[in-house]
Amino acid sequence: MIVDILQLANEAQRKKEINPEVINATVGMYFNEEGCVGGMPSVFQGFKTLNENQVLPYPASDGGEPFKSNVISWVLGSYEDKLRKSLYIAASATPGGSGAIAGTFAIYANPGDYVFVSDIRWQYDRYAASKKLKLFEHNTFIDGHFDLDSFESRLEKLCKIQKQVIIVVNDPCHNPTGYTLSMDEWKEMLIIFNKFKENDIVFMYDLAYLEFTDEKDARLKISYLDVLAPHVLTIITFSGSKTFGIYGLRMGAAIALSKDETKIKNFRNAFIEEARGSWSATPKAAIELLNYFSDKKNQLAFFLDLENMKASVQLRSKMFKTQASEIGLETHPFKSGFYTIVLAKDPEEAFKKLLDHQIYTIPMAGGIRIALCSLPLKEIDGLAHRIQKIINE
Ligand code: PLP
Repeated sequence: MIVDILQLANEAQRKKEINPEVINATVGMYFNEEGCVGGMPSVFQGFKTLNENQVLPYPASDGGEPFKSNVISWVLGSYEDKLRKSLYIAASATPGGSGAIAGTFAIYANPGDYVFVSDIRWQYDRYAASKKLKLFEHNTFIDGHFDLDSFESRLEKLCKIQKQVIIVVNDPCHNPTGYTLSMDEWKEMLIIFNKFKENDIVFMYDLAYLEFTDEKDARLKISYLDVLAPHVLTIITFSGSKTFGIYGLRMGAAIALSKDETKIKNFRNAFIEEARGSWSATPKAAIELLNYFSDKKNQLAFFLDLENMKASVQLRSKMFKTQASEIGLETHPFKSGFYTIVLAKDPEEAFKKLLDHQIYTIPMAGGIRIALCSLPLKEIDGLAHRIQKIINE
């Protein structure tokens, strides 16, 4: 059962306006404790400083300079110089992380091709379907951690069928489980990519929730991308929506890194062509807002807001997890982030039962997804208990 998350979220929102008892745990948007979306006042303040020329004109299809260098610096952080020593790097603006994902699928796969994904995943199915692509799955977890054996053996199978393979990895704070790969798992994964030298590997690294990880150094994993051999093209899909809490503004980027210069030249041209033939350009205001926050003097207020928001998200997940484990309500392995999955034998039935009690969740493989990011603590308190009672009715 695939539900349209945005549609269901709107329905839940309408119901909540009439009945405040409704629990809307559907969508990956942060709502503060007062129920307001966004949660970062500095971002809207920054938005209000933009003038007409920074909002109204058509931007360059790829975002132009300085956006491209700013977004690269934002994502690579203090590791940019290290990575630039051995990798060619380019970027293109996209409407949200979604634009970067859709663009990658459109450019690097042909109709009928497979894309390599985990069996528990966010809605990559939709992007694949619109490009007439099929999905090739690996098992996500084994004994509470990432199933690297399945990852490698399934990839090996696919690499025998298809020369160019897009591999989707969503980390940190995997949507929908909230899992984050350990450093050892990450390094092992990079070693696996390097093994498939006869293939063209397109490693699509969806780090939409980069800023929300509980890892000490959110960008340490990125710093290792220079171990990848020339047959690998990494495409980082960056979501400004999640980073800045500006879901409707459609800020995003695709950032390509490779030791093979030709791959990077092709990426530049291909993304411009893809933009022209589909979304045309990313909203100018989104581009200028990233440029605004790339200026060091505008960053302090943002990072303070981000810290608060992150602390709030962590408090919510801690409360839910603690209360869930106290009563034996099982979830998939979880580290941090916007979501968790409560395991259910029949996710569709659990979803419907919860709906009958005005609790809006999303049915997914193996369970129901709870968007903790959108619930204030007072709604999370006791929720695990209610869910357990309802789904076992
Ligand atoms: N990747 C993941 C894992 C997501 O959860 C989302 C949004 O929910 C996105 C990418 C795309 O976000 P957007 O297009 O709003 O930037």
